[in-house]
Amino acid sequence: MADTWTREEERSLRRAVAEGMPLVCPVCDVRLEVETVAPRRDVSYVRRRRWLRCSRCRRSLVVDAPREEGA
Ligand SMILES: [Zn+2]
Repeated sequence: MADTWTREEERSLRRAVAEGMPLVCPVCDVRLEVETVAPRRDVSYVRRRRWLRCSRCRRSLVVDAPREEGA
C-alpha cells in the first residue's frame, strides 16, 4: 500500500485547492500533478474532483474541485 499524507497535510492541500493556491507536496516540496476527474454522467450529484498526485513519493489525494468550476 502506498504512503499517504497525514490528516493535517491533507487538510492543507484541500485548503490550497479551495483557495487556488499552488499545490506542493508537503513531504517532497515539489509541485503536484493535478488531474480533473469528470463526474460520472449517470450520477449527477457527484461533483467534479481533482486528483492530486506527487510524482516523487506517489502519494495521492482526491479532493472536490472549487464550487464555481463544477457548475
Ligand atoms: Zn511527495
